[in-house]
Order: sequence, then structure tokens, then C-alpha cells
Amino acid sequence: MPRTGLIVVTGAGGFIGGHLIARLRREGHVRIRAVDCKPFDEWFQRFDDVENRTLDLRQAAACDEACHGAATVYNLACDMGGMGFIELHKTECMLSVLINTHMLQAARSAGVSRYFFSSSACVYPAERQVSPQVTPLREPDAYPAMPEDGYGWEKLFSERMCRHFREDFGLETRVARYHNVYGPQGTFDGGREKAPAAICRKVAKAVLTGRSEIEIWGDGEQTRSFTYIEDCIDGTLRIMDSPVAEPLNVGSDELVTINQLVDHVEAIAGVQLRRRYRLDAPKGVRGRNSDNTLVQELLGWSPSMKLRDGLRTTYEWILGEMRARDGQTLATGTRPAPSAT
Ligand code: NAD
Repeated sequence: MPRTGLIVVTGAGGFIGGHLIARLRREGHVRIRAVDCKPFDEWFQRFDDVENRTLDLRQAAACDEACHGAATVYNLACDMGGMGFIELHKTECMLSVLINTHMLQAARSAGVSRYFFSSSACVYPAERQVSPQVTPLREPDAYPAMPEDGYGWEKLFSERMCRHFREDFGLETRVARYHNVYGPQGTFDGGREKAPAAICRKVAKAVLTGRSEIEIWGDGEQTRSFTYIEDCIDGTLRIMDSPVAEPLNVGSDELVTINQLVDHVEAIAGVQLRRRYRLDAPKGVRGRNSDNTLVQELLGWSPSMKLRDGLRTTYEWILGEMRARDGQTLATGTRPAPSAT
């Protein structure tokens, strides 16, 4: 991609958006506009040499403002979270369709040359994910469609809309289906966190308070694969630079149970905790894994980070954040917002 055209990243105050901008800057891109609806002090990463904007992208006029003069758009903005959030906030998840609809229209009007949409493994039908020894999900498995209610339907619909903007209007769209991305500088509490961050937080909390118990949602035998953030960014950039317009998986194929995920984090922290299973908590599908055959064949991409290594960086960052917050709570009596850099 040319390094001089204006790149717009939405959801820039969030986890993946922040890391994407960090990478684009490292790769020498000099004109970047970062957009999010959150106040600046809640962004996980913020850079002074980037044009930072606060806009609510559910509004069409805000999307026009965001896309003005853009050559490339990475649309990562979405009202989302882990299973605890998406199972209980289906309307909010579906309303992100406003963001994607208005962003596509604005990108087309602004003459954007390439548009990226962050889809999800939640587009795959639940009936293919009923066993812990799940067959890894291939891209064509998304149809016949029966995605995760709420969030998954919005993602699948928006994927389709990207396709039709490309076919009908010539807007070059690219789509990644992310599978459970984790790493530092993302949400780890408040109800929107995903399993790796939640487990790291719970273990860190046990370490900091001397507690010996951890709560696990479900029976811990549900399986998942987790993609490290730098692998996710590599996959995103590969897809964006490629001629492949059909959605591609960006996921790890290192399948683990949630109990094994806890084992890893406990080993990193040097503790062993008593496990209390909450069988009534949201737990999502029974098993989910990514089949990377197609993305490997077409783009030569496959993830390189082993789960235990990625979890170490993630755990250490979360532990550090919790220590810093505890320190500030003691000093001021109030709980600070997540830090921005
Ligand atoms: P995130 O919640 O950290 O970031 C999303 C950002 O979008 C947030 O900062 C939020 O404030 C912003 N946003 C929400 N509504 C907005 C609005 N109306 N206007 C402007 N900004 C708005 O999430 P993330 O993990 O960085 O995910 C980025 C994208 O990747 C999302 O589209 C998500 O659905 C997709 N995805 C993520 C994962 C994952 O495991 N993290 C998995 C599959 C798909």
C-alpha cells in the first residue's frame, strides 16, 4: 500500500485499533486519522503524531467526516465484548450495523480505494460448534447461515454489504474473520473482556490479594483457540494488501480447553488456585477452532505466537495495570480509567 495516502482507522481507541495504528506508524505511514467515540483518556493507545478524532460513527455525518480525504479505511469500530457482553446485549451488538452501513456509504462517496471490515468467528453456525473436539471452521462453513444471535448476524450481514459495495460500486473491500484476539492493551474488566484477559485478571487478583480461588464460567471443558494481537495485525495487513476479496479466517489453530488456558496462566503467575465452576454463566459454543488452510494457501499467513508466550505478555501487562490502579486507588480513593500512551 502507498505510505503517503491518508489511512483512517476506526475503533482506534480500542484494543486492535490501537495496535494497528502502532504498527502502521512503525512501518512508516505518516498520515493516519484515528477515530473512536470514547473520550481520549479512555483510549488504550493514543499517538500525538496521529490525527485523533472523537466521533460517534452510528451517525452518517460523522462517517463522512471520518472518511473525508481518506485513501484507505480500516473499520474496526463496534459495540462489542466477550461472551458475557454479546449474550446479554444483542440489540447493542446489532446496532453496529449503523456504523458499517454509514462507513461504507461514506467511504464510497469519499472515493476510498480500499476498505477493511473486521468480522468475527461468530458468523459460523452454532451447529458446527457443539463438541469440544470441534472440526476447525473453514470459510465456506458460514453458509447456510445461522450465526451467533445478535453480534454474529450483524457481522455476517456487514460482510455481505461489503461484498455488494464491491460488486455494485467497485469499492475494494477486504474482510477478516478474527478468532478470539488477545494481548496487552485491551479490555480486561468491566464486563466486555474476553476469556484470556478475564482469566489473567482473575489470577492476577488472586496473586495481589492472596486469594486461593478462581471462578470459571461453564465447566472449563469448552474449547477455543486464541490469536495473539501481533499475529492478528499481520493477518489484517496481509489481507488488506492482497487481491483476495472474500472473507478469510485470522485465527490460531492451537486448540485448548478453558481449563488448559487457566493452567497456562497459573504457571506464568506461579500459583495454583481452587477452581469454582459457574455452570449458569454465559459460555458460548462448546468448541471453536480456526481452519487456516485457505488463508495460508492464498496469503502465506499463519499465526506464529504460541499461546503460553502470548499469555505471559498479556498477564504481565494486566498485572501491571492492576497494581497501578490499586496504587492510585490508595492514593486518591478513586478508580482511574485505563491508561493511554
Ligand atoms: P474494542 O471494543 O477494544 O474496540 C472497538 C472500539 O470501537 C472501541 O474503542 C469503541 O469505543 C469503538 N466504538 C464503538 N462504537 C463506536 C461508535 N459508534 N463510533 C466510534 N467508535 C465506536 O474491540 P476490539 O477487540 O479492538 O475489536 C475491534 C474489531 O474487531 C471489532 O469490530 C470486533 O467486532 C472485531 N473482532 C474482535 C475480536 C477480538 O477477539 N477482539 C474477535 C472478532 C472480531
